[in-house]
Amino acid sequence: MQEVRLVYPLLAEQKNVIITTHQKPDGDAMGAALGLYHFLTQLGHKVTVISPTNWANFLNWMPGCEFVMDFENDREAAGKLVNAADMLFCLDFNVLHRTKNMEGILAEVSCVKVLIDHHQQPQVEAFEYGISDVSKSSTCEMVYDFIEASPFRQYINKDIATCLFTGIMTDTGSFRFSSTTPAVHRAVAALKETGINHTEIFENIYDNFSESRLRFIGNALLNRLEVLYEYNTALMAIPKKDILKYEIKTGDTEGLVNYLLTIEGIKLGALLIDRTEERKWSFRSKGDFDVNVFARTHFEGGGHKNAAGGRSSESIEENVQKFKTVIQAYEQQLQ
Ligand code: 5GP
Ligand code: MN
Repeated sequence: MQEVRLVYPLLAEQKNVIITTHQKPDGDAMGAALGLYHFLTQLGHKVTVISPTNWANFLNWMPGCEFVMDFENDREAAGKLVNAADMLFCLDFNVLHRTKNMEGILAEVSCVKVLIDHHQQPQVEAFEYGISDVSKSSTCEMVYDFIEASPFRQYINKDIATCLFTGIMTDTGSFRFSSTTPAVHRAVAALKETGINHTEIFENIYDNFSESRLRFIGNALLNRLEVLYEYNTALMAIPKKDILKYEIKTGDTEGLVNYLLTIEGIKLGALLIDRTEERKWSFRSKGDFDVNVFARTHFEGGGHKNAAGGRSSESIEENVQKFKTVIQAYEQQLQ
């Protein structure tokens, strides 16, 4: 993979560009994709953002979100666009299988592929150009750096800034996580100069849910939480019936895992959700416990040191049992 700055000369002529992200895009994935979309569109390129799957409703307010294609809704049209692309930007994922059903088509397409991402162990051989930096707070920060270091930095406007601020805010836990460096605050200061309304962005993301979702969280905290004090671990397993009863949709469970770490002394939080197609794990840790390694080793996943995910085709009960067995080997590390 060659340096991402070598992409700038390629942007001098009009191109067909596809931007994609990981499945079930979060604020950072959608923010990075749309921030780059607004930038490249201003440069005169023909740009389409394709999400591998649907996304949370609380992202729909983002400028440009109405133009994002859902691959699962329109595979044929999306496939044609990918095959006609001159350039493909892959944002906020490290391995192609994070694009779920788009993996095959992305692997086969022969256009120039660019990676911008901050996850561990990227599949660099799949990309001609790119940057992978695990020290970065968010892919949105990296897209900001990409634009800022380019000969076209004057194109940063309020729409770009709104999208990029969103992802920086969500991936840093509202500027709380250790990834929130001075560079993050400098980037945000520059974005703020464009006139973005950070209060409104915060409300759009965090105060935009249904009553039912709040009651679902109440039920989960009351009835689905188990604390394994010997391992300084909190575990929460959400059965399918809760998802159905409270009409839980994509994005409604985001942030739920963070409650687990609010218990004093808890170093590992593990949330398991029974989705139709798979059992989905979210892991969060405090301090040195590396959930990226843990998820990779035991649950077909990965991510970052303190925030990772995994999956399994086994039942929810089998997953809980497996978790309780494998955690025994980490008793020392979790003290
Ligand atoms: P979340 O728990 O919010 O779904 O994910 C936390 C972090 O782990 C995110 O950075 C996400 O990209 C990563 N992640 C989540 N699930 C998976 C997975 O199945 N495989 C890999 N490699 N990373 C994941
Ligand atoms: Mn991210």
